[in-house]
Amino acid sequence: MKKKCINCDKEFEGRIDRLYCSDYCKSDYHYKKNKNKTPSFYAKVERQLKLNHRLLKHFNTAGKSTIRKEKLIDAGFNPRIITHYWKAKNGNLYLFCYDYGFFEKKENNKSKYVLVQWQPKYMAIPNIK
Ligand SMILES: [Zn+2]
Repeated sequence: MKKKCINCDKEFEGRIDRLYCSDYCKSDYHYKKNKNKTPSFYAKVERQLKLNHRLLKHFNTAGKSTIRKEKLIDAGFNPRIITHYWKAKNGNLYLFCYDYGFFEKKENNKSKYVLVQWQPKYMAIPNIK
């Protein structure tokens, strides 16, 4: 019986349940399908977290830097994807992506990020494995 390969559209003879003309087309089809699959939430968070970390590191040129919020956002930074936080004695909340973090403040009505590096001595996290 004549059938059409679902990968390359070539006609082939085969059993009724065969979908592909060859083993190559079978694996090629699955490869392409997996490649186009929308990434899982886990994968998306992981990718954003890595990008956030890279950007915080990139713009943190002096151990502690201040930068306009939009500049970081425009570069692809997403402030909601973080790994942990540290609350300073004065109440300021520092949000971190691994060992680089930021703190949002208003200056002349403009939002800025103060970029900081994780200080294990002062910011120790109890019970981290
Ligand atoms: Zn084929």
